[in-house]
Amino acid sequence: MKKALVCGAGGFIGSHLVKKLKKEGFWVRGVDLKHPEFSKTAADDFIIGDLREVEVVKKILDRPFDEVYQLAADMGGAGYIFTGNNDANVMHNSATINLNMAYYGVKAKIKKIFFSSSACIYPAYNQTDPDNPKLSEESAYPAAPDSEYGWEKLFSERLYLSFHRNYGLNVRIARFHNIFGPEGTWRGGREKAPAAICRKVAETPDGGTIDMWGDGKQTRSFLYIDECLKGVRKLMDSDFVGPVNIGSEEMVTINKLAELAMKIAGKKIKIKHIPGPLGVRGRNSDNRLIRKKLHWEPKMKLEEGLKKTYEWVNKQVIKIQE
Ligand code: NAD
Repeated sequence: MKKALVCGAGGFIGSHLVKKLKKEGFWVRGVDLKHPEFSKTAADDFIIGDLREVEVVKKILDRPFDEVYQLAADMGGAGYIFTGNNDANVMHNSATINLNMAYYGVKAKIKKIFFSSSACIYPAYNQTDPDNPKLSEESAYPAAPDSEYGWEKLFSERLYLSFHRNYGLNVRIARFHNIFGPEGTWRGGREKAPAAICRKVAETPDGGTIDMWGDGKQTRSFLYIDECLKGVRKLMDSDFVGPVNIGSEEMVTINKLAELAMKIAGKKIKIKHIPGPLGVRGRNSDNRLIRKKLHWEPKMKLEEGLKKTYEWVNKQVIKIQE
């Protein structure tokens, strides 16, 4: 039986990944500061631990795992990453985790490690036009991410690649673009746009008004969790090291995203645009490389994934109101 270690298994993507690996027949160990928030972990073994601590990292790497998925990071939505208030923690916490995992991963002779980087590594100067952002993998340099979160991810990509070159660490690196779905953070300040909009629409009666940061004309693409995990597993099973984008090419404005959520909810709601942290003006996945290397790209329409997410967020809202 193949053995997998999932770091960040209490988080959104990690908890879904554990379920998928279990379905595929892996023995799975999960590690996180916390248990998954919305359902019981599917992991065979779940360790509560802080991956900044060397002793914890040594303890969890007690065997030569076939596959390690390094998803643990100090992160959140725009409200967490772009205010600047969490910069030191974001950089220190996530970099320490990655330094530990690369170094002790080599010592433990792990067979393969996946690292989740982000679209946030791409230079801000290529994302000023909402209709025409440039996010092909090689355009990452000259580097100019618009957040410390992006800089840490870029550093850690390079860290894993250097361990690959110098110590033969078998790495796979993907740059995720806005992953969303059920059982993701939906309130409290770390939630991302799809969950935040679903929550606002669910909480607001027909004819009411919701707040939105900025003019809503900034563009993004969003990838449903199941599609993201398919891509991750395909990358792990391939010989391609990456970095490669894992995202959707269905670019929408945030206004359009809100309209879709309203359509799904069957409500007519007004949008009040207010100042707030925004990030870049335009961002979309560029899937040419993943098509070429993995002969695959995500296909699910945004509306389909958003419907599943809205239904789940709506249930959470109802639960709280009861
Ligand atoms: P998440 O915040 O839900 O999960 C991250 C998990 O890491 C959390 O459960 C957190 O408790 C854990 N963690 C943080 N510090 C830790 C520590 N010191 N020790 C142990 N565990 C720790 O985020 P997610 O959306 O599931 O994202 C997973 C990974 O994918 C992250 O690395 C993130 O940067 C990356 N990513 C996500 C997206 C997205 O849209 N969700 C986009 C780009 C990149």
